[in-house]
Amino acid sequence: MWIPMTDEEIRSTRKNTAISRLIAFFILYFIFFGLLIFFKMVGYEGRYRAMGQGMNWQGIAPQLPMMFLVTFGIAVLLGISFLLGKKKMVICPKCDKLKKDDGKNICECGENFIDSKLLKWVED
Ligand SMILES: [Zn+2]
Repeated sequence: MWIPMTDEEIRSTRKNTAISRLIAFFILYFIFFGLLIFFKMVGYEGRYRAMGQGMNWQGIAPQLPMMFLVTFGIAVLLGISFLLGKKKMVICPKCDKLKKDDGKNICECGENFIDSKLLKWVED
């Protein structure tokens, strides 16, 4: 069943979520940035010729700060819009019903839905 978390548990869960999101963000971003540099060095043939011929490291290095600023800015904006677009999950503690928050706060059983971030699951 779902039971309320203590303030301490809520705080540490929030912290852990924030940390793992940040780690995931940086890992994804650096994979993307690495791929970008890789393709700049290899160059593209055919359809994406616009990206041009392969470059050597001396050619790429001066562009790196600008590439970093632009792509990192875009990545942060994408990350923020992802978080803002995420719907809160709510749970009915009486019948364990889980749903996305759609503004209706009362469950069919008459109980109030509660933000899932404030509850934790324990075996009966
Ligand atoms: Zn219910």
